[in-house]
Amino acid sequence: MSTEERDHTNCRVPTCPLLGTMSSNTTGTKDWDCFLHFGRNAAQRKAIDSQLDHWNWLAIITRKLRDRSTESWADNYRSAKQEIIVHKQPELLIQKGESVSKWLVRLEKFLSDQCTQDVPQLPSLSEKMNIKDSWEKCNFNDLVPV
Ligand SMILES: [Zn+2]
Repeated sequence: MSTEERDHTNCRVPTCPLLGTMSSNTTGTKDWDCFLHFGRNAAQRKAIDSQLDHWNWLAIITRKLRDRSTESWADNYRSAKQEIIVHKQPELLIQKGESVSKWLVRLEKFLSDQCTQDVPQLPSLSEKMNIKDSWEKCNFNDLVPV
């Protein structure tokens, strides 16, 4: 086992380049998920990861743009625009009059739409809660990120 400290600002899915911003644990945890992986079961994560592999460059852009605390933010902003051009997605460029915040929301929405389009749907939480069979109740744990 590695003793290397994991960066706990990252999403806990090891291959995911996004920040871990969401947790269902209310008692304090180091394990956080990004907005794509939060609340997904194994099958859903697999579908997301196969898309995220393709859109990895965009995920990295959104992460860099979100982190405005760094001195390199201006460089990140410029390189984001270049990456978008290189990947031939001109509709993702910041629009005239669009604020960076709105642009970032648009990029993350696009990323989310692309990565979740093939995700198998789960029964709703209320449907799950009404399940009477105890074996089915065990599978309720599928909703909890592993
Ligand atoms: Zn993630």
